[in-house]
Amino acid sequence: MVGVEHINAPLVVDIDAHTLTEYVPAKPLESNLEVVFGSAEQGSLRARFEPCAQLNCGNTLKFPFARGAYKPTAVTIKDAQVLVAADAATETKRVVELTLDTAALGQWDYAPGDTVAILPSNAPQIVAQLLQRLNLSEQADSVCHLSLALNCAKKSAKVPGHIPATATPRELLTHCLSLHAVPQKQFLSALASCTSDSKERSFLASLSSKQGAAHYQTLILERGLCLLDLLELCTTCQPTLALLVEHLPRLLPRPYSIANSPLECSQQLRIIYSIRANKAGVTTSMLEAKRELHREKQQSVQLYIYPREPNAFRYTDQEFSGNQILIAVGTGLAPFLGFLAHKQLHKELATGQTWLYVGAKMPQAMVKQQQLLAWQKASILQSLRLCYSRHSTGEQPKYVQQLLEQDAQQLVELMQQPTTVLYVCADGAKITKCIEDGLRRCLQLGLKLDEMEATQWLKEMRAKGKYREDIWL
Ligand SMILES: Cc1cc2nc3c(=O)[nH]c(=O)nc-3n(C[C@H](O)[C@H](O)[C@H](O)COP(=O)(O)OP(=O)(O)OC[C@H]3O[C@@H](n4cnc5c(N)ncnc54)[C@H](O)[C@@H]3O)c2cc1C
Repeated sequence: MVGVEHINAPLVVDIDAHTLTEYVPAKPLESNLEVVFGSAEQGSLRARFEPCAQLNCGNTLKFPFARGAYKPTAVTIKDAQVLVAADAATETKRVVELTLDTAALGQWDYAPGDTVAILPSNAPQIVAQLLQRLNLSEQADSVCHLSLALNCAKKSAKVPGHIPATATPRELLTHCLSLHAVPQKQFLSALASCTSDSKERSFLASLSSKQGAAHYQTLILERGLCLLDLLELCTTCQPTLALLVEHLPRLLPRPYSIANSPLECSQQLRIIYSIRANKAGVTTSMLEAKRELHREKQQSVQLYIYPREPNAFRYTDQEFSGNQILIAVGTGLAPFLGFLAHKQLHKELATGQTWLYVGAKMPQAMVKQQQLLAWQKASILQSLRLCYSRHSTGEQPKYVQQLLEQDAQQLVELMQQPTTVLYVCADGAKITKCIEDGLRRCLQLGLKLDEMEATQWLKEMRAKGKYREDIWL
């Protein structure tokens, strides 16, 4: 099994050391579902089905934040460029830019700052291993459906909405279920009941118990072990497909910021993603596999995407005459590339000041540095401040919040102007909090406020829509 701890290193957990002698396992859910393999007729009906199984669930299945009547649509990868090479020494993640041909989505108005959602799929090799464990390798591509078990007593029981009327086991595991979700205690207890080895069974049951909370905390919540890791550890655990459908949540689409101006290219858009070398995520792993296929030019490579509802984090005609303070860390620069390209294309109308602060680990990890410098030279950017957390050059600030504090006086003057909007984009609540703390200190320094007053100032800026954040959790 290839789980969360993935290909890089074998999973090492002493299951005896994580098994209690006295515990009461969580009560497992009643088993309500069963898998029924279908007739040849069911198979022939599927000729017109979408390859992405969640799209065969009918109109009742909603896609989160889908804009208007847009549905997930297959678009083609036109180009894929590595913008930043991965570097283990500085823990720099590879950063990739994908250009997508979005003609299949039809006419679609978007502004810089808007996002699209990408439908992920679980990696084929992980699915193949799981099918083997479920003893379904031979039926992996046979059509089946989920139905309520004959002995199901629960009145409210139903087949989850993200499971299509018919699908193959491979499709269900590839497109519908989140195999890397945090296993709930009832799930652990259910897995224990499918485990023949007594030590492994006790480990899972103990982990599901109230008494095993500390082990649950360290192994599941902190170390992030998921179903696949547990199956690697417990080699005699053999759950059924119905049990997985019952316990695993839906595989949900992930948002990505559009990194270009709509005026730059018709029926195309760019997204930028970073990929972790260790414990790479589901969607980013899928994107990397597709990038590789595109590179080999074996076939036209497609992704399922849909436009998401916009929010206040966007740069539209209304913002042209105002000022923008843009603050980004790492790939958080992606939406601002769209803002700046858009401003450049509206140079006569976009008369406000734009200041950009960006943090990266190393100079070579700064996304599109040459383009940023060109925008500064062309006065699209009135101020460009860059910093590097792993590249020490004497007194130079390492973090964006330090850059902000260096500029406190001028920054606060700009913040005070009625048309100024501050935009922050970073991956993770921790970085966003550090930036907020930096802004608070700027206000304290610039306006001689105490901490409470500066906090209130930021709160009011937020309420007036002058402080907008995009936090990528
Ligand atoms: C409004 C919005 C806009 C976003 N725009 C972008 C964008 O333009 N570019 C972009 O790369 N991401 C963006 N994200 C984040 C993106 O949606 C995914 O969360 C991210 O790509 C990881 O997805 P995954 O399915 O590969 O990881 P999962 O399988 O969901 O991974 C589980 C967890 O691992 C961590 N993780 C995995 N990969 C990474 C990574 N590369 N960096 C940091 N942590 C990671 C995260 O904590 C994640 O929750 C955005 C998020 C939001 C909410």
